[in-house]
Amino acid sequence: MDNDQLMQRDLGVLWHPCTQMKDHEWLPVVPIRRGQGVWLEDFDGNRYLDAISSWWVNLHGHANPRINAALKDQLDTLEHVLLAGFSHEPAITLAERLVKLAPEGLSRVFYVDNGSSAVEAALKMSYHYWRNSGKPDKHRFITLSNSYHGETLGALAVGDVALYKETYQPLLMEVLTAPSPDCFEREPGASWEEHSRQQFRHMEALLNEHADTVSAVIVEPLVQCAGNMRMYHPVYLELLRDACDRHGVHLIADEIAVGFGRTGTLFACEQAGITPDFMTLSKGLTGGYLPLSLVMTRDGIYEAFYDDYENLTAFLHSHSYTGNPLGCRAALASLDIIEHDGVIERNRTTAQLMAEAAAPLADHPHVGEVRQHGMILAIEMVADKARRTPFPWQQRRGLDVYRHGLANQALLRPLGNVVYWMPPYVIEPEHIAHLGRVTAEGIDLATRG
Ligand code: PMP
Repeated sequence: MDNDQLMQRDLGVLWHPCTQMKDHEWLPVVPIRRGQGVWLEDFDGNRYLDAISSWWVNLHGHANPRINAALKDQLDTLEHVLLAGFSHEPAITLAERLVKLAPEGLSRVFYVDNGSSAVEAALKMSYHYWRNSGKPDKHRFITLSNSYHGETLGALAVGDVALYKETYQPLLMEVLTAPSPDCFEREPGASWEEHSRQQFRHMEALLNEHADTVSAVIVEPLVQCAGNMRMYHPVYLELLRDACDRHGVHLIADEIAVGFGRTGTLFACEQAGITPDFMTLSKGLTGGYLPLSLVMTRDGIYEAFYDDYENLTAFLHSHSYTGNPLGCRAALASLDIIEHDGVIERNRTTAQLMAEAAAPLADHPHVGEVRQHGMILAIEMVADKARRTPFPWQQRRGLDVYRHGLANQALLRPLGNVVYWMPPYVIEPEHIAHLGRVTAEGIDLATRG
């Protein structure tokens, strides 16, 4: 079997995610035979450095021996059991460990099975809490412009990336949208902190006006990942926590993309010293092995659902693969690695190497900004450097970088005009140097003419 044969079979039966399938008339599908560490290898023997951790899920490298061993053991013990009325040790142990590691006060774990579904569960729980507390009018959500929380209808409704959302607008619930603290939009000379503080005034105004009917504010802490890796200062989260408390509104922190060390701390919320009312986790939760997600919340919220059955206050939400034992075992193995190998500490050094490798790009005539939060580094290509005007999306400049990467041993998958690195944590200095070279060449090529 070679790449081409597999591609032909693939195109005969598959419909790929987030893809205009007609592109594959000229853009090859890359069938991957195996993964090892930061590398993916196709059926023709080409290698690709997985600079985006396969959609931000992989933490400790592909085919990680410790996660593999944990899964093989679990496979011979228990592959799955329903979580209603029944339980299993991996789900219990994982919940216990997360409660110890998460921001203080998040003491309950509700398992789900993918990121979007965790967001749906958090939204429903928030509304349902207010309903159980005699405030059924609190049914609206506040979200940030340029945010992303998933593709199912509820999650899509609280997101704001037009490319994914606009088509489905008639199907979506209405939300209130506050302008993002996104620091790419700051005035020249303004610091990230000043800009984030200033943008908060819009959120405060929305809360002032609508708190009576608002259930929760949902945010991606520190980095709006799918929204082109736009970033902001932790002070925004501090101000938001305080305002949500004053206005009696929940705060949902969607740490699906930024959790588990991505931004430099185990959870991004730590950098603001806050505890959200709900925190959603997925992606890196299993080290990138299996679909699993969860919502963490506070005792006070849990208790509002705890009553005699006839009062019908229970959270009757479920998915078949809720808390799958294999996913939980992979997650436990991933946490072992994070805790025992000093991963968060090591990432500090790695993030610094990434910063150094990308620094020269800041002077490129078509780079508007190089920005970073820990293990996420983004390079914004612009048509006009002084005015920071974007290239028209129709030109698909990012696709040129993607194709250059594929031809040069790198999986870079830009978001629009934004090239980014979000690699597995096991990335080594020589890999970072390789990414630096390929990215610089790719940006040169893509922005020519
Ligand atoms: N929230 C955030 C912040 C995300 O980045 C994503 C996925 N990119 C999701 C939710 C949705 O997760 P999933 O793709 O597993 O549904």
